[in-house]
Amino acid sequence: MFDLLVKGGTLPDGRMADIAVSGDRIAEVAPKIDAEAREVIDATGDLVAPPFVDPHFHMDATLSYGLPRVNASGTLLEGISLWGELRDLATVDEMVERALRYCDWAVSMGLLAVRSHVDTTPDHLNTVTAMLEVREKVKPYLDLQLVAFPQDGLYRAPTGRDNVIRALDMGVDVVGGIPHFERTMQDGAASVRDLCEIAAERGLPIDLHCDETDDPHSRHVETLAYEVQRLGLGGRATGSHLTSMHSMDNYYVSKLLPLIAEAGVAAIPNPLINIVLQGRHDTFPKRRGLTRVKEMQALGIDVGWGQDCVLDPWYSLGTADMLDVAFMGLHVAQMTHPDEMARCFTMVTETNAKIIGLDGYGLAKGCTASLVVLDAADPTEAVRLRPSRLAVVSKGKVVSRSARGDGSLTIPGRPEAVRRRRGG
Ligand SMILES: [Zn+2]
Repeated sequence: MFDLLVKGGTLPDGRMADIAVSGDRIAEVAPKIDAEAREVIDATGDLVAPPFVDPHFHMDATLSYGLPRVNASGTLLEGISLWGELRDLATVDEMVERALRYCDWAVSMGLLAVRSHVDTTPDHLNTVTAMLEVREKVKPYLDLQLVAFPQDGLYRAPTGRDNVIRALDMGVDVVGGIPHFERTMQDGAASVRDLCEIAAERGLPIDLHCDETDDPHSRHVETLAYEVQRLGLGGRATGSHLTSMHSMDNYYVSKLLPLIAEAGVAAIPNPLINIVLQGRHDTFPKRRGLTRVKEMQALGIDVGWGQDCVLDPWYSLGTADMLDVAFMGLHVAQMTHPDEMARCFTMVTETNAKIIGLDGYGLAKGCTASLVVLDAADPTEAVRLRPSRLAVVSKGKVVSRSARGDGSLTIPGRPEAVRRRRGG
């Protein structure tokens, strides 16, 4: 007797399979499993995927849109300045409450693992206290990883470095940074070296907001690749955003990308945010500001899609749907070949899980029993429709259900029900 049986679904690789669950583990995956189960989900004709993973988010700021007021210019810098006010006004309880509400949204969208940067700038570290509390509270159903993020600079803010160390001592999981925001290029490069050494000493992953600017001379990812290789951090090092690469000289990039690949640095562009925030100083043509996704992938660099923000000082929209992120990324990076469209789905699932080092991820025997059933036939259709998450299973338990997204017509001579799936 299994605890749960998901029957008749189609896996992302196209195989039809039943999935049996015992406790919090996948007990069996086979074309047909004839066995009793306490609970059965009929996924016939639907896509069954491992859960969505967001490798780049800001949960301390989420759902705060309009507080203390909206970002009128729409720029990264006004967003940082607004957040600078809000982080001192918001109480721990308010941040916890907003984050928990966001996690409810995430679960309903099949998003079950999030890496969130946590601002370590204010000396009170209320952001860190709040997010550590949230990490504990959501543990039974959502894996939350925290990054010590010196939003106002490691060196530019007077206690920037001390507070990163304090946050790591409090139990934050990953070392973060923001080299392009330091006072000089030299300070930026020094911060990358310093942070990589901290990560190496403590045996932690590193994930830097890196070169989130339209300035083609912002080349901190070069230093990141160098330090990661020198210190042997390959496989647990990430450059987030990398938007300056959009504007860099092509000859320089032809040297840079192989160095990133060789070092084992992963990349996380955040297409919703990059397309909204970058190019704001341009007249026309306006740069898109998305990093070079396909070009990095062609060299074997792991590139995932991150969400970054939902309803906060930097972004006034968002729904915790990683398929919105994949959809925008597909368009802006022009990933329209059938293989590339399917890859956009893989990026918000498997690739993101690999980048943040999730254990037991996947739909194979022995993996953690977390999955999502989508009202779509295959990964590309899921990206196209961003459909209902019919069922979400986290660590063996059904944690959310949604109805199908069918419409009903009242046009004489036409069908009453309309589904937007290709197969009808
Ligand atoms: Zn960010």
